[in-house]
Amino acid sequence: MLACARSSAVCYHGPVNRHLLFIPGPVTCAQPVLEAMAKPMIDHRGPEFAALLARIERGMRPIFGTQAEIEILGCSGTGGLEAAIASAFSPGQRVLAAPVGVFGKRLANIARAYGLEVELLDTPYGHAVDPAALEEKLKADRAHAFDGILLTHNETSTGVQNDMAALAAAIGDHPATTIVDSVSGLGASPFEMDAWRYDIVVTATQKALAVPPGISMVAVSARGWERIAQAKAPRFYLDLARAREFAPQGQTPWTPPVSIAFALDVGIERYHAEGAANVYARHDRYARAIRAATTTLRLELFSQPNAHSVTVVALRLPENLSADAIRRTLREEAGVVIGGGQQDLKGKILRIGTMGALTQTDILGAIGALEIALLKQAYALQVGSGVRAAFEVFLEKEAASALVGA
Ligand SMILES: *Cc1c(COP(=O)(O)O)cnc(C)c1O
Repeated sequence: MLACARSSAVCYHGPVNRHLLFIPGPVTCAQPVLEAMAKPMIDHRGPEFAALLARIERGMRPIFGTQAEIEILGCSGTGGLEAAIASAFSPGQRVLAAPVGVFGKRLANIARAYGLEVELLDTPYGHAVDPAALEEKLKADRAHAFDGILLTHNETSTGVQNDMAALAAAIGDHPATTIVDSVSGLGASPFEMDAWRYDIVVTATQKALAVPPGISMVAVSARGWERIAQAKAPRFYLDLARAREFAPQGQTPWTPPVSIAFALDVGIERYHAEGAANVYARHDRYARAIRAATTTLRLELFSQPNAHSVTVVALRLPENLSADAIRRTLREEAGVVIGGGQQDLKGKILRIGTMGALTQTDILGAIGALEIALLKQAYALQVGSGVRAAFEVFLEKEAASALVGA
């Protein structure tokens, strides 16, 4: 065994020689996706890159549910959100933000940083935005004082997913420019940007697409481009209009993360080979299995019924359990990496992601490891009961496919 400067328990060369990521991004990537990044560089203003960019856009359109143009930006998801705000608004404009957690608040803070006046539609943590409350707020805005509406598809900090079809219906004909953070939502469940008439939808590579971080993708509707043409917020690198100027030549304005684009190309190919319906079903099944297991272990779901995310399960811990200790045991002894709480929720919740190249066996193993970590904290549980509950969710599918085969 190789010597390691740190204690063997936290070292890759120690008892655990691989780490499986169950955090909500970045996620475990399939080997062909990783290998794509080892390819030699190409000219980012040459024909191969133009073809690659075209393939990415073509492959992403059905995932966004759009015919719109999609800009490829060299940045994380937050950069895509900043590009949306900076490109679509002017200082002094008013936006309605409907955060349901840390990421929604971040989007509101980006708007504030660009000089926008932000009004909040408050939702208690753990709940999704109430479409009726949004509708009421917008109906009251007869003068159309709101220039923008900021929404989160899937709130990674609380394990909550908004009903984006219902929110679209609640917005109705209000003329505000709609911005949707679907960084941890897109690809994992159906999204219909055009049918729901959202203007700017932002995602990134390192969540449900199961590709390393480094590219954000921003889809912009025809109406979104009209708003962008009028917007005056200061911007340079994150200017969607400039990205659009270069798109017809199959280029990006600045040097793009070419290796991540190679990986994304393979990720998108794998996504469509699996089939969107199967990808949606996989995330839903994994989330249900984790919820079934953890509720059986008497850990409380942080998200309310009907607001559960399919990409991350958030759990509230009893007072006597330490989130940090559980996460440390999982990481060091089982190679299972799960998330903790952010900001106000630090130390209070655990978050288990479903995204990435994970198998049912990986999920069962992680639940088993969680049981062991809980036992280490003298938490009373029936050994194997969580694993069994997850197993039962998976057996529904196995039984269904056995019937199909019969
Ligand atoms: C991950 C994530 C982001 C982007 O975070 P980055 O670290 O900038 O990629 C934004 N919104 C949500 C909901 C996310 O889950």
